[in-house]
Amino acid sequence: MEKSLLTKYGGVTPAAMVESAMGHIHILEDLNYTDLKVSLKASSIPLMVEAYRSLARKVDYPFHIGVTEAGTLATGTVKSAVGIGILLSEGIGDTVRVSLTGHPLHEVRVAYDILKALGLRRRGVDLISCPTCGRTQVDLIKLAEETEARLKVLDKPVKVAVMGCVVNGPGEAREADVGIACGKGEGLIFKKGVVVRKVPEEKLLEELMKEIETL
Ligand code: SF4
Repeated sequence: MEKSLLTKYGGVTPAAMVESAMGHIHILEDLNYTDLKVSLKASSIPLMVEAYRSLARKVDYPFHIGVTEAGTLATGTVKSAVGIGILLSEGIGDTVRVSLTGHPLHEVRVAYDILKALGLRRRGVDLISCPTCGRTQVDLIKLAEETEARLKVLDKPVKVAVMGCVVNGPGEAREADVGIACGKGEGLIFKKGVVVRKVPEEKLLEELMKEIETL
């Protein structure tokens, strides 16, 4: 950010970021170079969202979007999902960067999860699991976590539901490609909307995997 703009706007503001970006865009345009992409990333979500929105009203170049220095895996994922999600849902953004203090592989996975959540890409498994409640009579949190870990490597666009009871579970389990609705120490396995069998809790994960493999 140029010092003159910091003085003019009293700090880093969306207007200052846009004016700075426009200055750099004009340098390139004056050289007849228009094969460019613009990034206005910031660590403040309201700042970066407003800056991108404002620049999108002025130019038609592709944008590279993201929240810089977003934080560790949990907080950085939330911030990136909010910031990138707002912009993508408004049709702003052409490439994304998730910036986490963690292994770079997490950045790619979180970026795909954001695209998946918005229905912009289908890659890998879409896992639906319930939050658990007094009706849950199996160790559903463990089952959902183990299912997610096992499915991480799968590249098929498959929807999987892991649900905790026979009251609200079957609905979601039926809607998924493969699903489980648990009861007391056991669960029903659904495939493409149909119950295929009842399985004891300790075998649910393996049986679920078998059904996914046959899809
Ligand atoms: S699906 Fe059943 S167990 Fe899970 S939160 Fe809903 S009511 Fe509770």
